[in-house]
Amino acid sequence: MDLEQGKKYAGVVIDISHEKVDRLFHYRIPEHLCGSIREGMEVVVPFGAGNKMRKAYVMEITDFVDFPEDKIKWVESINDKAIGMEQKVMSLAYWMKRQYGCTMIAAMQTVLPVKKKIKALECKTIVRNAAEDEILQLINKCNPLRQAARLRILKELLVLKELPFDLVTGKLGVSAATIKSLEEKGVVIIRKEREYRNAFLSGAKKTEPVALTPLQQRAAEGIINSFRSEKKTVLLHGITGSGKTEVYMEAIAACIRDGKQAIVLIPEIALTFQTLKRFYMRFGDRVSVLHSKMSDGERFDQYERAKNGMLDIIIGPRSALFAPFPNLGLIVIDEEHESSYKSEKMPKYHAREVAQYLCEREDALLVLGSATPSVDSYYRAKKGDYLLYELDERIGSAKLPSVHTVDMREELKAGNKSFFSRKLKELMTERFVRGEQVMLFINRRGYAGFVSCRECGEVIKCPHCDVSLSQHGGNRNPYTGVVTPQSLVCHYCGYAVPMVTECPTCKSKKVAGFRAGTQRLEEALKAEYPSVRILRMDADTTKKKEDYEKILSAFAAREADVLIGTQMIVKGHDFSNVTLVGVVAADLSLFAANYMSGERTFQLLTQAAGRAGRGEKKGEVVIQTYQPDNYSVLHASSQDYKAFYEEEMVYRTFAKYPPVCHMLAVQLLAGEEERIWNRGESLAKWLKEEYGEEAGIIGPAKGVVSKVKDIFRVVIYIKHPDMEMLIRMKDAIEEKMGERDEKKEVLQFDFDPINMM
Ligand code: ADP
Ligand code: ZN
Ligand code: ZN
Repeated sequence: MDLEQGKKYAGVVIDISHEKVDRLFHYRIPEHLCGSIREGMEVVVPFGAGNKMRKAYVMEITDFVDFPEDKIKWVESINDKAIGMEQKVMSLAYWMKRQYGCTMIAAMQTVLPVKKKIKALECKTIVRNAAEDEILQLINKCNPLRQAARLRILKELLVLKELPFDLVTGKLGVSAATIKSLEEKGVVIIRKEREYRNAFLSGAKKTEPVALTPLQQRAAEGIINSFRSEKKTVLLHGITGSGKTEVYMEAIAACIRDGKQAIVLIPEIALTFQTLKRFYMRFGDRVSVLHSKMSDGERFDQYERAKNGMLDIIIGPRSALFAPFPNLGLIVIDEEHESSYKSEKMPKYHAREVAQYLCEREDALLVLGSATPSVDSYYRAKKGDYLLYELDERIGSAKLPSVHTVDMREELKAGNKSFFSRKLKELMTERFVRGEQVMLFINRRGYAGFVSCRECGEVIKCPHCDVSLSQHGGNRNPYTGVVTPQSLVCHYCGYAVPMVTECPTCKSKKVAGFRAGTQRLEEALKAEYPSVRILRMDADTTKKKEDYEKILSAFAAREADVLIGTQMIVKGHDFSNVTLVGVVAADLSLFAANYMSGERTFQLLTQAAGRAGRGEKKGEVVIQTYQPDNYSVLHASSQDYKAFYEEEMVYRTFAKYPPVCHMLAVQLLAGEEERIWNRGESLAKWLKEEYGEEAGIIGPAKGVVSKVKDIFRVVIYIKHPDMEMLIRMKDAIEEKMGERDEKKEVLQFDFDPINMM
């Protein structure tokens, strides 16, 4: 081997997301590529028995491989259209791989928000390069019939020194050849500038910042102090309308003054137009957005602008975390409790954790904000890991609304079987008479299908776990006409019983799966109030990205009296004429099979209530429930976060759920049902032997969705107080399950899952 030649092998990962190929493969670097191949680059290599050309990423360049020279294949080419990965991005991908147990390729695809280079837009200008009399001479020499176009551009150049290229070729109808001949004669110069695709808004009118209230001032100073010193994560707990956004902006202004950049995460871009506009109006054109609905070109340009120091702020959903700022100073996560911050596909990362990692690495500060902080973040703040600032007053004259809780069992007893309680109807009628607006909220998650008793409110639960059973079956096969038997299943432990016909507690026959939808609600409202104008916002009415904005603007312009919606309507909108919010079925999120359902219910109810009374007029809220005594409902009614937190923590501590404990869901997927159960059982047995009492091992159980595309899913949950220990267990499981031979068999991990698998 000729060592003088230097490094001549590239260790690459192949662009196929499967654990089987999740390792380095080595290729020889041909001489003509020797100087140009670098780590992080995308290359093309022959792969597998058929030597099919595959994309791959260079992870290392080395001059030694432990492999017979003649068996080693050659790198085919470099893909220079791809964006290379910098060292920093690569190490983030390594961290994700280890932290979340995904393949390197999946990690890389996650941390590179923009994958390919898109042709830069050029802005061309024709600039006069000759004296006026020279131009005049040329004009005189022109043949007005045969050289009309030439004449037109020359005449314009007499008046204007610079002409946009597009205008000349377009409006003036001058061919590129004509322009070229003038350029060759030195009459004009073509100036080329890079033009960036506009991501969102530009030219917003600048506004002066508002004067902060003393509470806001204290929080902003606290954040800025931490930013300039120890960089201790800040949790800003402020009720809806308390002015959190102004506090973020104040801190960001300080960050920019110090020459650093900020990333602002928001849960859902389509729903936060108002917030975006405020950022543009305060910070001007050095703000941009980055999200998946933008075109490739738009995304690429924002990526380049961020990298080249042309931006101070990037706003976007969780993927905006990967904006390549040269000198990151601040990451703000607004509405940090939102479940959209957790990725649903591998790697199943939480934006909060990745942000924490990035902030530590870049010496930046993380700021979390919410009206209803996640139990996890509040727990850390209480423990002293985070600084905590609280804003407990609304800005100006706006007051928190008064809340009425209606026991729907009483309504039933009184013979009212409709969607609407008497109280809600009374208050709605009042609004319609006064010309004020109403929002009605129903939870989409209700489709999970828990079963409850309409008489006593009892929800059918698993005897082994503190979760509700889910209704399964009852589907009719269109070919055979056979209806599958109905059953109740536990998604935690696999326990199953036939569907009950009477309530186990009060023996009432009125037990049924709870299914209700926005559409049914709309019909019911129309029947009750035929002349009322209704807008509906749910997955059906918002198929296109501009639909959200259309519905929201129509409602803001008072083109409707009622807005009906799923949880998407509870997020951050300010409608000053909305004085009543009705939560039609508060229980729908309560009994989803998930240890977080109490937290979700509290958050949704509190956020929904926060939509009422944002203007001068005082608001009212009606919460309809079959469980008025449930602590999530009770504390949301009194808008008492701390009381909710205390009670929730009793449950989490007792049942050893996060944040007291950490949890790892191990999911096995395979095409054969029996095989996957055997694998699951032997894995669970091994785990119990190996880790014994100190780790809580539950399962194997059927996955929530137990079969997708003929692939069966089995899941094992592991609880442990130490996250590092769980990561080591994950590594051990990967090793143990390494000798899989079935092609389709897959192993997936989810740390601190927020949805059960
Ligand atoms: P949050 O993010 O906590 O819901 P916002 O920052 O959106 O609250 O503030 C609510 C409303 O009050 C917004 O219209 C905002 O412009 C206004 N606002 C916030 N702080 C002040 C202030 N100090 N003075 C005047 N208006 C303010
Ligand atoms: Zn009952
Ligand atoms: Zn169970």
